[in-house]
Amino acid sequence: MSRLAHEADVAVVGGGLVGAAIAWGLARSGARVVVLDEGDVAFRASRGNFALVWVQSKGLGMPEYAAWTKRSSDLWGEFARGLQEQTGLDVAFRRPGGFHLCLSEREVENRAAMLARLHNQPAMVKYDYEILDAARVRAMLPQVGPEVAGASYCPLDGHVNSLRLLRALHAGMQQLGATYLADHVVEKIEPRDGGFRLVTRHGEVRAGKVVLAAGNGNARLGPMVGLDVPVRPQRGQIIVTEKVAPFLDYPVVTIRQTDEGSVMIGDSVEEAGWDTTVGAGVVSAMAQRAVRMFPLLGKLNVVRTWAALRVMTPDGFPIYQQSLSSPGAFVATCHSGVTLAANHALVLAPLIAQGALPPDEFDVFSPRRFHVPATA
Ligand SMILES: Cc1cc2nc3c(=O)[nH]c(=O)nc-3n(C[C@H](O)[C@H](O)[C@H](O)COP(=O)(O)OP(=O)(O)OC[C@H]3O[C@@H](n4cnc5c(N)ncnc54)[C@H](O)[C@@H]3O)c2cc1C
Repeated sequence: MSRLAHEADVAVVGGGLVGAAIAWGLARSGARVVVLDEGDVAFRASRGNFALVWVQSKGLGMPEYAAWTKRSSDLWGEFARGLQEQTGLDVAFRRPGGFHLCLSEREVENRAAMLARLHNQPAMVKYDYEILDAARVRAMLPQVGPEVAGASYCPLDGHVNSLRLLRALHAGMQQLGATYLADHVVEKIEPRDGGFRLVTRHGEVRAGKVVLAAGNGNARLGPMVGLDVPVRPQRGQIIVTEKVAPFLDYPVVTIRQTDEGSVMIGDSVEEAGWDTTVGAGVVSAMAQRAVRMFPLLGKLNVVRTWAALRVMTPDGFPIYQQSLSSPGAFVATCHSGVTLAANHALVLAPLIAQGALPPDEFDVFSPRRFHVPATA
C-alpha cells in the first residue's frame, strides 16, 4: 500500500497557469489545497506562451466564449492588483487596446468580414472594435512600415508578463497555505469514500474534490473520473529579440514589446504532435512578416527562439465540467490560459469551492458538445 503524502479539501492536478490560477482562487476561498505537478522537464504551455490578454476575434461559433473572454479581460485589473497586493509582484498587466495588422487591402477586407460575422452572431456580447485605415494605424503606431494597409483595433486587448504571472500565482497560493508538490506525476485517480485518492510514485494524496488542470495531460486523466477531455498538443513558435527602448505602445496579435524591452514575435499554429523542435522555415516566415509590419525589427538581434505546445480542443473552445459519474471531480482546460486566468481565479475557483458549475453558464463548455449524434 502506498504511503499517504497529503490530505486536502481539493487536489489540483497541474501547476501551469490554469491549475495555479484555480488553486490561488480556491486558497483565497479558504479551501485546503494541494497542487500536484510534474518535474522540471515537462510540457508546459504556461512557460512558452505569447502573454496576450486578448479579446478581439474570440468566439466565432460560440458567442458564450466571447462573453467569457470579455469578462476575464474586465476582471484582469482587479486580479493583477490582488496578486500584487498579496505577493508584491507586478505582473505588468496593461490594457491599452490591441491591433491585428493587415498587409494588403484584401487582408483588411477579410478581417472586417470575419469580425462582422463574429459580432453579428445572435447572443454576441457587445463591445467596441474598429477597422482602421492605414493613416489611422500610422497615427497610433508611427513605426509601422509602408506595406501596412490597415488593422482591426479593440480597446479591450492587453498583455502581461506571463512568466511573472505564473510565479505570482505560485507564491500567492503557497502564502495562502496551499501545498505545491513538484515531481508528483498523478498516475491514477480513484473515487474513494466520497472523495478521491490520487496515486503518485511518491505516495498518495487524498482529497474531497479533484480539479484536472493538467493541460494536455487531461486527456489521459479525465476517463479515470468519468470525464472525456479530447485535447491535443498544437505547436506554436516564438522569437525574442534583444531589449530596445520602448517603441510599441500597443500589443499587436503577433508582435509585442515586453515590459522589459525585448520584442516577442509569434506565434505559429502547427499540428506537430508532441514535437517541440524549432523549425527554421517557420521562424523565418514569422520574422519576415514582422519586419514588413515594423521595418525597425530587421535591425534587432534575435536572442532566443522556442516552440511550445498549446492545449487545443477539437473546436478551440474551453472545456469546464464536473463529472456526472464522480461528482467532485472537475476539469478545466483552454488554449487561452493567460487571458482567462482572471476568470479561473475569481469566478471558476469559488464555484468549484462551492461544489457546482451553474448549468446555464457552463453547460455550453461541457465536452458533451463533441458527441452530437451524426445525422444520416
Ligand atoms: C506558443 C503559444 C502561445 C500562446 N499565447 C497565448 C496568449 O498570447 N494568450 C493566452 O491567453 N494564451 C496563450 N497561450 C496558451 C496558454 O499558454 C495556455 O492556455 C496555458 O498555458 C495552459 O495552461 P495549462 O495550465 O492548462 O497547461 P500547461 O501549462 O501545459 O500546464 C499543465 C501542467 O500539468 C502538469 N501535468 C500534466 N500531466 C500531469 C500529471 N499526470 N500529474 C501531475 N501534473 C501533470 C504539467 O507538468 C504542467 O505543469 C499560448 C500557448 C502557446 C504554446
